Amino acid sequence: MMKQLILLGAPGSGKGTQAAKIVEDFGYKHVSTGDLLRKEIASGSELGKRVKAIMDSGNLVDDVTVLELLKNNCNVHKNAYIFDGYPRNIDQAKELESKILKGVSQQVIYFDVDLEKLVERIVNRRSCKSCGEIYNVINNPSRIVDVCDRCGGQLLQRDDDKKSVVKNRIEVFKNTIFPVRDYYNRAGVLKIVDAGKGVAEIFTEISDLLK
Ligand SMILES: [Zn+2]
Repeated sequence: MMKQLILLGAPGSGKGTQAAKIVEDFGYKHVSTGDLLRKEIASGSELGKRVKAIMDSGNLVDDVTVLELLKNNCNVHKNAYIFDGYPRNIDQAKELESKILKGVSQQVIYFDVDLEKLVERIVNRRSCKSCGEIYNVINNPSRIVDVCDRCGGQLLQRDDDKKSVVKNRIEVFKNTIFPVRDYYNRAGVLKIVDAGKGVAEIFTEISDLLK
């Protein structure tokens, strides 16, 4: 029986790329709570109607509802899943274990990125007001400062890419994900991969874990 797989990592850590490769090569089913929510709504079920009402009101879907959705859609005795972007916090991690995984064989992979570098990469990002082209003032600057190469539009920094906002976002990530990582480390199922390595190299490391 294949291990259930949980991928943890900051946005931009490359876990999405690896998830796609694992699905292709190992036959895992990819679980994204966002997709499950959309599918449930489309099905018109009672749960779907409840989810739609929550989302239409602009609220985040609560943990209990997300868990119900996972329970309805995941049979861990029949399929191997990649949980991607879930659990997001320690409460969800405990619930996932007690309500869904219940001691089945599992592997958790944390994609380790240098969070300081991640902050730098995001704060140096600029995007064109007119065509949306993305630049980076350090790695990928426009030929003329603040002017789009493609359309001549003005380059702007998004409000949520400003340093104080980004630092806060990373701080929140650390405070919620590090306890999750420690939880799986204590359970002896955690593997940390260096997300700075190449895609192929990381995939080889992951493949070895799954064999
Ligand atoms: Zn442009």
